Amino acid sequence: MFLATIDWSLWLSPWVLGLFGLCIGSFLNVVIHRLPLMLERQWVHESAAQLTDAAAMARAARLPLAETEKLAKAVDDFGTRIESLPHFGIAAPRSRCPHCGHQLRWHENLPLVGWLRLGGKCAACKAPISKRYPLIELITGLAFATLSWRFGAQPTTLLWCGFVAALIALAMIDLDTQFLPDDITLPLLWAGLVAAAMGWTVPLDKALVGAAAGYLSLWSIYWLYKLVRKREGMGYGDFKLLAAMGAWLGWPMLLPIILLSSAVGAVVGICLILFRGHGREIPIPFGPYLVGGGLVALFVGQPALLGLLGLYLG
Ligand SMILES: [Zn+2]
Repeated sequence: MFLATIDWSLWLSPWVLGLFGLCIGSFLNVVIHRLPLMLERQWVHESAAQLTDAAAMARAARLPLAETEKLAKAVDDFGTRIESLPHFGIAAPRSRCPHCGHQLRWHENLPLVGWLRLGGKCAACKAPISKRYPLIELITGLAFATLSWRFGAQPTTLLWCGFVAALIALAMIDLDTQFLPDDITLPLLWAGLVAAAMGWTVPLDKALVGAAAGYLSLWSIYWLYKLVRKREGMGYGDFKLLAAMGAWLGWPMLLPIILLSSAVGAVVGICLILFRGHGREIPIPFGPYLVGGGLVALFVGQPALLGLLGLYLG
């Protein structure tokens, strides 16, 4: 078989996988920036399409048809305007400086190296380029190298790389926009279940119970919180994210993940309120903490983590 002839110990060694991670980190930067904008355009366009039915609007809002026809016409023009915009996706258009529109050349786009060579400034207008870009590339590279070291140079390690890459993208998108797109959480959940069914990750029963329990545990906390405090503490994206983590890591990892992410979330939340004057009412996204908890669970491993928690839970 073709797969058997590949020298995995070289191609999936920490160094090679680390370099691969730098490139994936560069791709994640694009996804983190563009996916929310792409989805926003898609949603606005879909909503506009629904508002072109003047008769339906007249019935629903009990308004005279003449009035809703005017509205439908305006919305229709709006929809046409969105359709006439140039294509905006992950692969195209090419990356540009947001300040001067300078199109990045291939060597300026190199992960980590490009940013370092430019000294963190746009080659054309010298506007500073956020440190976040090289940082995400570095984190992804280090994560991939650690996975190779932790799970060995074997094909299933690539699955874990995909899992971690999706988690990094989700954490950053949640931080930026306070939402976790279904376009990432749901495929991640299904991929976790399929990987378990193929015997590549955790046993399938643990993955299935993990996915269901992951969703329901946060869903229950959400409703309890809503009943007691009369406001929402997190969103449905968080439930789907924990369901995906349960599918990948198995149900025994759920409690450690929830405890870790709540503890870190509480500490950071209190610090933000105390030191940064962050209002109590301003929502703090929970996704990044869940991702942090999930990554610790993945890298530390189940026996060590449960032993550690057992120590503290008595
Ligand atoms: Zn520029």
